[in-house]
Formats: sequence, C-alpha cells, structure tokens
Amino acid sequence: MAPSLANPGSNSSPVRIRVLAGLRYRPGTDPSALSDAPPRARLASNELAFGPLPGVREALAATDAISRYPDDSATWLRARLAEEHGVEHAAVTVGNGSVTLIQQVVLATCGPRDEILVGAPSFQAYTTLAATTGARVVSVPLDGVGLDLPGMANAVGESTRAVFVCTPNNPTGGIVTADALEAFLERIPDDVLVVVDEAYREFVDDPAAADGEAALARHDNVLVLRTFSKAYGLAGMRIGYAVGHPAVVAAVQAFRVPFAVSAPAQTAALVSLDRREELARRVELVRSERSRVARRLRSGGCDVPASQGNFLWLPTGQRTAELTAALARMGVLVRGIAEAGIRVTMGTPTENDAFLDAFSRVLTQSSGRT
Ligand SMILES: *Cc1c(COP(=O)(O)O)cnc(C)c1O
Repeated sequence: MAPSLANPGSNSSPVRIRVLAGLRYRPGTDPSALSDAPPRARLASNELAFGPLPGVREALAATDAISRYPDDSATWLRARLAEEHGVEHAAVTVGNGSVTLIQQVVLATCGPRDEILVGAPSFQAYTTLAATTGARVVSVPLDGVGLDLPGMANAVGESTRAVFVCTPNNPTGGIVTADALEAFLERIPDDVLVVVDEAYREFVDDPAAADGEAALARHDNVLVLRTFSKAYGLAGMRIGYAVGHPAVVAAVQAFRVPFAVSAPAQTAALVSLDRREELARRVELVRSERSRVARRLRSGGCDVPASQGNFLWLPTGQRTAELTAALARMGVLVRGIAEAGIRVTMGTPTENDAFLDAFSRVLTQSSGRT
C-alpha cells in the first residue's frame, strides 16, 4: 500500500511524518513571481545588488573546477580565514552556505527531546533545520527589534542545547550590544552552545554592537557564523563559515556532507577576501541607501526602526500580506513576514526608488479602501 504521506497521524509511513510537518523553509522570492516580466526591484532575499566582487568571474572562468572534486577540507580558504580572524586553522570550518552550518550545529548538539532557543521573529532556518533532528524550538519574543537576551537567558532550561543569537537580527535589523551579549554569556551554562550569527556584520556601524569574535575569545561555548552571501555578493555560490573553539568546530565538522563546498565557491571566496576596498565601498553605499530610504519613509509618516543590516523593517502588522502582494503586482519583490511586517532589502538606488514609489502608492490605495 502507498504510504499515507498526506496523513500526519499515520503510523504506516516510511518517512518521519511528524518531523516533516515542521520542515518548510520559504525562500524570500517565489520563483513564479520571476517567470513573467522581470521585476523592477528584487528586494526579497537580502542579496547584494552589485554582483560578485571584481576578479571573481575571471577567476572562476580560469579554474579547472568542474570535473574534479573540490578540496574537501578547503585547506587554503580555511587557512586564509584563520589568518584573517587571528585563530588557529582548527578553529574554522566552511559550509555550503551558513544554513548548512546551522543544520550541522543542530545535528551536533541536539537529539529528539532537546531544545534550541531562538528569537521571534528571527531567521526562519533555525526553526526548520532544528526540526530535522526532532529538537524542540523555544522562541522568545523580541524586545523591540532586537533579541531579548535577558528573556532568552531566563528561558534556558535543562534541555537547552543551543541558543541562536542573530545580530543584526533578520528580519528586524536590531542588534544586541556588546554589554548585553557579555551579560548573557555570563548567565549561560558552559554546556549550552551560543551561536552568534553575524550574517550582516559588514553592514553594522553602531559602535555599541556586539562582536562575536571578541565574545569567543572569552567564552569557549560561542560559535560565530559568517557568510559570503550578503556583503560579498556570493549568495548563489553557497558558502559560509564558522569560527569557534576547535573542539566545537570539530563536532560541527563531523556532521558535514563530504565535498559540501564546491571548488568554484572556494575560489570565489578566496578572491573576494582580496577585494577589501571595493567591499568597503559597496558596504558604504548600502549604509547610505539604508539611511536615505529610512528618512524618506519616515518623512512619509511610516514607522521605520533603525536597522543595522542591508535591509529595513516595516512593522505593517495585519496589512503585511496585502501590502506585499500589492508591491509584487507592481514588480517590487519584498519579504512579508505574516502578520508582522515587511523586510525590504537595500538594492541599487534605482531599485530602492522603485520601492519607495510603489510603497507610497500601495499605502494610499490600501488606506483609501478602509
Ligand atoms: C542570509 C542569512 C544567512 C546566510 O545564509 P547562507 O546559507 O550563508 O546564504 C545566515 N543567517 C542569517 C540570519 C541570514 O539572514
């Protein structure tokens, strides 16, 4: 008999039905939205709008990276990253995007009755990937637009194995301060892993912001996650990395899929690390667009909290789905988080203007209807 895949109560299925129910990552961009006319602005996935850094395309064209297996331990890239971060080689591991590292962290720390702790709303992948192990996800509401670290420390219990500290937080853009992170770490038992996800670190310009690496220097139970997907403009290559205590890194690495990081991805990352000046120039452009767009929205009467990521958060509440759909019809793709708000990536100035124009129109239309 065919397995009753559609019936979550079924006992006669070969697959883990109960686990499957928790496993649906929704990408920011619905591929069907891209099939007709190209959108005016793709601002739904926090990618960089300026393409890869100079030299990356040329380096990829020159490698013989297609027919041979990649270097499984990413020797050169890990050595380079270790040097950048001033840590030993064994303190760094790379992954097929930092989402793969998140999955490895969960596999390395959690069994079926264990718990992970996350903010709400925060990066959705923590929750969907935790579900693969059967771990329970405990979520603690944000304090404004940043994580409520005292609240999260209170929520740590006997079964807590890992805490995900996303700073700046996706989707809201708030940071945790260095002081708040230190006070938090003082309260967390040594056998709970604190994952500091700094996917947007390059865009941070608040001097009070926490620094995952500095925290790692004082606490062995910290693991810092970084990615080449955002500021480095390599989202399609799939490469991220983790820096932590060698024992933690070894455990995370033990759960990796062989040859997970492709040779082109390793090459692209290595070349990108040599393009500091252009990286800084792009980051500066994103920051100035972030200020400009926020000012324009605020002068139009919108509530726009300060963001330290390459995106802004618009707390649109109940109107989120309606506004997101109206923007999509105008060719402006943004990320709606149901009943909470809209996250809009800072794209090129032209894309951002397209968003500003479309958003002011949909707001007028939707308020005109009520
Ligand atoms: C985008 C993002 C990532 C990066 O994912 P990759 O798999 O490296 O592309 C990780 N964490 C957060 C919070 C993100 O927003």
